[in-house]
Amino acid sequence: MMEKKKNWFRRHWILTSFLIFFILIIILGTFAPEDSSSNNIPNNLSNNISNQDNQQVDETGPAYQKQISEIENKYNINIEYENPPHSSYPGSNVVVLSQDDEEELAKYINLFYIEFNKYPQDFIKNVNLGEVAFVKNLSVDGQYRAAEPDSTNEVLFYDIYLGNYDKEYQQEVVHHEFYHMIEEEINGDPYYKDPVWASFNDPDFEYGSGGALAYDDPEYANKVPESGFISVYSTYGLEEDKAEIFAYLFVPELAEEMYSKAINDPILDKKVKYMKDFISKHSEHMGEDFWQKILIS
Ligand SMILES: [Zn+2]
Repeated sequence: MMEKKKNWFRRHWILTSFLIFFILIIILGTFAPEDSSSNNIPNNLSNNISNQDNQQVDETGPAYQKQISEIENKYNINIEYENPPHSSYPGSNVVVLSQDDEEELAKYINLFYIEFNKYPQDFIKNVNLGEVAFVKNLSVDGQYRAAEPDSTNEVLFYDIYLGNYDKEYQQEVVHHEFYHMIEEEINGDPYYKDPVWASFNDPDFEYGSGGALAYDDPEYANKVPESGFISVYSTYGLEEDKAEIFAYLFVPELAEEMYSKAINDPILDKKVKYMKDFISKHSEHMGEDFWQKILIS
């Protein structure tokens, strides 16, 4: 049998060589692609992972710090979140942000950056804002607040967490609280009882005794704004009414709501026009064109 086999291979050596050659090709063919693909997959994955890491670093760390520097330089104001100053009001309390708050801070700064950039530089200069501080657990006389305007020290405190489930609310707060400082700067008192403004209301209307009461009013959430007012909060004080109208002007969705309500509400209409006129006196760039641009921002 052996002899016979030998003889067969010897006789068919060309065929045998081809056979061995094909077997080798098949063996190489089976392993070679597997090798190259198993090398490629981890490479691609590791590239993707490192790209994602880079993006995350860009979005959190450096991105918000860049936004802060940009605002500081553009408006010549100081922004603090590591060592916020003390409020001049003794009843005010805050907790300083820590490393754990960085993600929320980045989100809040992004919102603040968009809102604050709506102001022309000359307006911020003319109303003399000095500093903005970002904190958490901000309370005034034991009441948690989204913000506190410290008009004595020209510092605007914002709580980065309060109301963070409602973007529109947080947008509105940025402008509302700032208005209290503007009122102090221009009219000498954040609670200035503007007689012209008061004259727009029905003669028998009386404001409540301040925004602080709204926080303790159990009926607050069920109330609907009466005619002449853009929100329920507006009716708690003349100063809140002005701050609400100012803030609504800067947030496109709220501005639209206010303008359409004002069409059939002559009191509200007068207030909106009066506020726009007041603002235009403190900036060369805040005429009707400016408000049109806000609507499409
Ligand atoms: Zn207010």
